[in-house]
Amino acid sequence: MSTTPNGTVGAGGTSSAARSAAATYWNPILETMHPERLREVQFRKFRRIVTWAYENSRFHRAHYQDAGFEPGDLRTLDDAALVPKVDKSHMRGIQRKDPFPYGDMLCVPLDRVVEFRQTSGTTGQAVYQADTWQDWEWWAECWSYLLYAQGYRDHDRVFLPFGYNIFVAFWAAHYAAEKMGCEVVPGGVLDTEARILKMQELQTTAMMATPTYVLGMAEKARAMGIDPHTDLAVRRITCAGEPGASIPSTKQRMEEAWGAKVFDHCGATEIGAWGFECEEQSGGIHVNEGLFLAQVEDLETGALIEEPGRRGKLIITALDRIGMPCVRFDSKDVVEWADGLCSCGRTYRLFAGGVVGRADDITKVKGVLLAPSAIEEVVRSFEEVGDEYEVIVVKRGDLDDISLKIEPAPGIDLSGDRLDGFLQCLKDQLRLKTNLGYKVEIVEPGSLPRYALKAKRFKDLRKVNG
Ligand SMILES: [Zn+2]
Repeated sequence: MSTTPNGTVGAGGTSSAARSAAATYWNPILETMHPERLREVQFRKFRRIVTWAYENSRFHRAHYQDAGFEPGDLRTLDDAALVPKVDKSHMRGIQRKDPFPYGDMLCVPLDRVVEFRQTSGTTGQAVYQADTWQDWEWWAECWSYLLYAQGYRDHDRVFLPFGYNIFVAFWAAHYAAEKMGCEVVPGGVLDTEARILKMQELQTTAMMATPTYVLGMAEKARAMGIDPHTDLAVRRITCAGEPGASIPSTKQRMEEAWGAKVFDHCGATEIGAWGFECEEQSGGIHVNEGLFLAQVEDLETGALIEEPGRRGKLIITALDRIGMPCVRFDSKDVVEWADGLCSCGRTYRLFAGGVVGRADDITKVKGVLLAPSAIEEVVRSFEEVGDEYEVIVVKRGDLDDISLKIEPAPGIDLSGDRLDGFLQCLKDQLRLKTNLGYKVEIVEPGSLPRYALKAKRFKDLRKVNG
């Protein structure tokens, strides 16, 4: 087992500063590069991948020619905005063309594809994604940056309580953990109880799961008479798939339930693992700017946003992914640049609060823009509320109506004066954070749906009901 970070020389003959950097960063050169120099690297890589896509993929060439763009138009990083964007509808469109199943988007012969993955298709038809072996090694490299930044080292025994199959989630995490020298325990086909027992037996030190499952496992462990704090040895948890680890109240719940540090990461099948929270837990997600170019666009005007504190949509490029390139992909993730750099010493910029919503999910209720994550932040900040809740939006006549169902937390008696005070406080906080009023209903503990993977706690039934 060796922990020599990628791209560094051995410690012999290097200065103590270099040794310290090698111990802190997976790639000390890229992660601490001066911002101006980092922009230069990004520009050169961006021009290279755009040229590659133009020259080798029929889809990209036609897409760019239709917009009157050619790679020679790229003279500075500012010109990146000239490159036409790609979104999921393009990717679905090509799947109906030959050669099956990736259409004309590939930059390499089909024979060089070694990995098939598809998106989970929560919002429509699944998108198919091809990767070459080089791309697959790149995926593991992306994940190595994030695991290393979250303190994973070769002495960790990492449990993956997840049946990874056709989706990319945790495959790359698995290989990255191996690459770093961790010992990997795949807990795929086990049920939750068996997973907890295996974690107890092996005293695994880290795990990766969705926030929903992290909370669900803690609940299950306690029901089995196992205290995650004292009987299990998990001290770091990496979350994916849902925004919970970047929502302070949800993160706190998970950390308290496990006695562990909980970290967020960001990625998508079509993009790669592009962002990570570091050990400083500074309230933001680093963009891996050595491997990705992130641009933030105003949601209404499409103008680029460079300054902190203004929300926009993330347009992202994977700078080194060659088989089926991801160039200026419209991620629909809503983000905002943080003010200043992180205290960890990385020059990689941060998105404040991680991905704060999805452009798709932000919906108008009673004329007000509502992000479901804002409701989660409020609900999870009340200790009286259990881990599950449900929000349902319906139309009554011409008016939208929002109801929130919650379960009381275990051991909490919500009755009499305490109930009235709690309900008033919850409604006030919801109004303050979302500018909307809610009907709150308290339901029996255990009566709301439980989710193993990605939860669907926000249900907009207005269209269904006509
Ligand atoms: Zn940091």
